Amino acid sequence: MLSRIILFKKGSTLRVAIIGAGPTGLSSAVHLLKNDRNVHVDVIEASDVVGGISKSFELFDHIVDLGPHRFYTKDKAILKFWLNLAGDHCHIVNRQTSIFYENKFIKYPLSATDLMFALPLATKAKIFSSFLRRQKYKYVDGDNFSTTMRYRFGDKLYETFFKSYTEKLWGTCDTDLSATIAYQRIGGFGLGKAITHALYRTTGKVNDTFFYPTLGCGQVWENATKEIIKMGGRVFLSHPVTYIEKKKRAFQIQFGNRQNSYDKIISTIPVGRLVKIYQQSPQRLKDAVKELKFRSTILAYAEILGEHLFNEQWIYVNSQHIKTGRITNFSNWGMPNNKKRGSQVVCMEYWCDVGDEMWNMNDSHLGVMAKRDLIQFGVLRSHIARQTIIRLPHTYPIITNSAEKILSDVSQFFRAEKDLQTIGRGGAFKYNNQDHCIEMGIGAAKNVMGQNISTWDVNSEKHYLESSLITEVPPG
Ligand SMILES: Cc1cc2nc3c(=O)[nH]c(=O)nc-3n(C[C@H](O)[C@H](O)[C@H](O)COP(=O)(O)OP(=O)(O)OC[C@H]3O[C@@H](n4cnc5c(N)ncnc54)[C@H](O)[C@@H]3O)c2cc1C
Repeated sequence: MLSRIILFKKGSTLRVAIIGAGPTGLSSAVHLLKNDRNVHVDVIEASDVVGGISKSFELFDHIVDLGPHRFYTKDKAILKFWLNLAGDHCHIVNRQTSIFYENKFIKYPLSATDLMFALPLATKAKIFSSFLRRQKYKYVDGDNFSTTMRYRFGDKLYETFFKSYTEKLWGTCDTDLSATIAYQRIGGFGLGKAITHALYRTTGKVNDTFFYPTLGCGQVWENATKEIIKMGGRVFLSHPVTYIEKKKRAFQIQFGNRQNSYDKIISTIPVGRLVKIYQQSPQRLKDAVKELKFRSTILAYAEILGEHLFNEQWIYVNSQHIKTGRITNFSNWGMPNNKKRGSQVVCMEYWCDVGDEMWNMNDSHLGVMAKRDLIQFGVLRSHIARQTIIRLPHTYPIITNSAEKILSDVSQFFRAEKDLQTIGRGGAFKYNNQDHCIEMGIGAAKNVMGQNISTWDVNSEKHYLESSLITEVPPG
């Protein structure tokens, strides 16, 4: 609190700009307005809706998300924050997810029964022997993603369940990827823990349920926006921030046709973009951030006539003959609106790079590709009534070893710029889920109020070593 008192006379209002109305920015705004009466908060958002890539919307008379969006955390404070925003509009979903592997649906996460029966004996023997073989060699931690995963699961299991998915998702030879991705996604998980969990799962000791808002995951972020406005904050939609300049102690920000002055900024836009528009960024940083690359996503939605396709909320597709990596069925998330009789809406995810062949395919070709996948997948027993394609640029930060070096420079620069923080999935260039975004958002808000929290440590190796929160491995 001391620095606040020195910099701002008691009673004067602190003007804070929060750039981006996704989960990270909105969490910051809610926390700030709830905990500091002397603050004026403007949330500035480029698009015409809130929620960022965690928004929900209506499509073909159903409510859908941008791919599957389950909220999951073991941190009670973060869960409470999220539940407070969800309010009464929330229900519990029994998790049902699978991996489609060699034309079979294998329940995922695995239970001991699945381990016993889903795979042939020879495959199981190979999985265990290759895991034991890996354990014999000294493991150089932090080498790369592939080595980390092979060490944790053994070569056979890695190649069976994770490799083709990894290649589809990242589009790169997986040795380029940093071990950080493994930390950010699975913490300390490995085959040993997978077996323990599989046993617990069979005995019912693992509770595979999650909370989900009645109107989709984005409802939480719509509620957050209402709270912000109720508490006196302002939310500017359709106002992309294009220019930031520091003049003495204040920042001038241009957004849409406006220009305002702020004492503090919390930015959640992709960090490369921030470095580019911030006039005080050194040229060497501007050049370096060009190398921070993202994978992008194409979502192919289809409305399929008929009452039942499959029971899962989503299915990971581990098959080289099928191009999609994951398929979500929005009828299985317990949303009453989606229980309309007669049709279901599914979403298939395709990963690519902006400007590559797939990204440039026209929508009707992408629709044909998605239909072909559904047929191969064996779930299309009825007609597709309607289809739509959504292109989402910059969804997955590609964390390579060289990207990490750049990030270390970037974080050093912004740590020194105390009044301008960059956080969030794109802002910190991390493979964040919404729980990490909330944690970063609250951390940045506390910093505005005078604390000194390292938001860069959220969802990092250090974070994982300090916590025991992660108990389950998502394959992507
Ligand atoms: C396919 C997919 C599935 C996922 N599944 C899950 C899941 O199951 N569970 C989970 O917890 N998380 C999941 N996530 C992750 C989750 O969506 C993100 O972690 C979260 O939305 C990131 O929040 P954010 O606020 O950091 O960024 P974003 O959601 O990207 O929000 C950033 C906001 O900044 C705005 N912006 C950008 N540039 C500007 C500018 N110049 N000026 C003003 N505004 C700007 C954007 O329009 C956007 O609204 C998934 C992500 C994807 C892609």
